[in-house]
Amino acid sequence: MCLGREVGRGKGKDNAALEHLRGQYFLVTSFFVTKAKAHCPNSSCKNHLTPKQRFYIKRGYFITQWNRGRVPRYQCLDCKKSFSSHTFYRTYRQKKPYLNDTIYRFYTSATTQRRLAKILGVNLKTVVRKFLFLAHNAEAMHLEKLGKKEFDVAHCQFDEMLTFEHTRLKPISIALAVQKQDSKLISIQVAQSHYQGILSSVAIRKYGPREDQSHAARSRVLTTLQSQIKGSCTLVTDAKLVYRTEVASHVPEATLVQIKNRGSRLQRLLGAKRRNIKDPMFELNLVAAKIRHDLSRMARKVWVTTKCQDRLHKHLMLFLASQNGYSIAD
Ligand SMILES: [Zn+2]
Repeated sequence: MCLGREVGRGKGKDNAALEHLRGQYFLVTSFFVTKAKAHCPNSSCKNHLTPKQRFYIKRGYFITQWNRGRVPRYQCLDCKKSFSSHTFYRTYRQKKPYLNDTIYRFYTSATTQRRLAKILGVNLKTVVRKFLFLAHNAEAMHLEKLGKKEFDVAHCQFDEMLTFEHTRLKPISIALAVQKQDSKLISIQVAQSHYQGILSSVAIRKYGPREDQSHAARSRVLTTLQSQIKGSCTLVTDAKLVYRTEVASHVPEATLVQIKNRGSRLQRLLGAKRRNIKDPMFELNLVAAKIRHDLSRMARKVWVTTKCQDRLHKHLMLFLASQNGYSIAD
């Protein structure tokens, strides 16, 4: 399939950084080859779930395009299905798997998709595909952690952030919950919000009515919190009135602590301290500040904008994986 094809053609041909990444990735995957548990990939074969001892024979090899690695192929003796160790990787059939980790790190470090494509010498479509692959892995890994109830909701914080899709006239609400112990994100959800502030009159003239669906994002986050309760749960939020009824409805076991508003925006700015560790919502505010800094599309004054809510959600899942320390690139 890849025999005889030159590695690293096009823009990335002479890129020393890419060569370095290829080398690093090869070391990691070599380790996994020896650890992988062999089974037949054919789901209707009896060697799929309960493989026999030596159920396969070795049958040839192929050479990977990206590092000219020689990968042996095998064949199941019962159903004759052929496979290789790469069949079981999440990166199966990827042409540039060594880029995954770099894209994961840079795309959660204030870099844009176009700039990543420029730096790595690859097409923008490659970056987008990698981003979707990583976001899928991040979501799957987070769901697995939620399934095992690995989060500590004894002390947690809940709030919302605002951003927009396409134009500042179309606001989006982001609901998030953070555990106090180590600032890990328990859940983060996106939904469209109604027009707000001085732009609302312009927005309604230009785009017509906009339904407020932010309650759906809040309820998804609160339902996730409820699923993680093992003993007690103290939930700290700001003084928004609707939180009281929604928390009572979705997390009835939680003790709600609502923090009083700190006056007007001007008063808050005048009295603001750089690191207010006495702030009861310090951990959540810190995570929100990191989201504004680390995700290019979330910065306050930037040309980058969200065009699609789903992609914003996926980008936030990458941030969640980065914040919670998940390894999702291979
Ligand atoms: Zn088989």
